[in-house]
Amino acid sequence: MTEKLLSGEKPDVTGSILPDGEARVKILVIEDEEPIRSFVRINLEQNGFLALEAASGEEALELIKKGVPHLVVLDLKLPGMDGLEVCRLLRDRYPQVAIIMLTARGQDMDRVKGLEMGADDYVVKPFHPLELVARIKAVLRRLYPARNSVLRCAGLEIYPEARQVKKAGALVELTNREFELLLFLARNPGRAFSRDELLNNVWGENYFGDPKTVDVYIRRLRVKLEDDSLSPRFIETVWGTGYRWRREES
Ligand code: CA
Repeated sequence: MTEKLLSGEKPDVTGSILPDGEARVKILVIEDEEPIRSFVRINLEQNGFLALEAASGEEALELIKKGVPHLVVLDLKLPGMDGLEVCRLLRDRYPQVAIIMLTARGQDMDRVKGLEMGADDYVVKPFHPLELVARIKAVLRRLYPARNSVLRCAGLEIYPEARQVKKAGALVELTNREFELLLFLARNPGRAFSRDELLNNVWGENYFGDPKTVDVYIRRLRVKLEDDSLSPRFIETVWGTGYRWRREES
């Protein structure tokens, strides 16, 4: 394993899990200790990742507004907002972002709390950078097992790579944004999203639009996808919240 990593193996997740138009997996390193932070960033870059740094949770949240990373490496002990709080906020606002926590030996309870708060994994300090890289790859593989594989739901087939949707085998014409919205919802089945969350995740944080925009797009998607757009089967309305992709009964 280590030998394989040392031989300069590039992350095999790169290119297969990425949202359209992005060349590399983007990772944000949130750590107040500058030497550790830049050490981690350099190691991530050497392993083919695009790495960004933030010295605090507050700085990280500002950075994320400009572009949501695929994964964050989050130190537990931060000045100001601590790692657990950052973890909770990230989970809440950006459910698709993977989180790996950095903890120190003896912080077992915090580690448990971190996982409860929705961290995907943790690495105990001091760590070998390749251990961190291996964990990152494992988390990415687990979270995006086949990001480009076909999503199927009650007669609907979504092809992320081809950016196509078929209903009962027939191609459905969608605009780019309609497709993005559909894909985001379908990748998070059973989870209710507010209009603002959908705007943030599909249109981007820098889009200053009316939340009603979401309703317009949902209506269009329903007309195109549902047998009866007034009693939708795929995109459910969650009263008081927003919308949810149905969870397929197994
Ligand atoms: Ca720290």
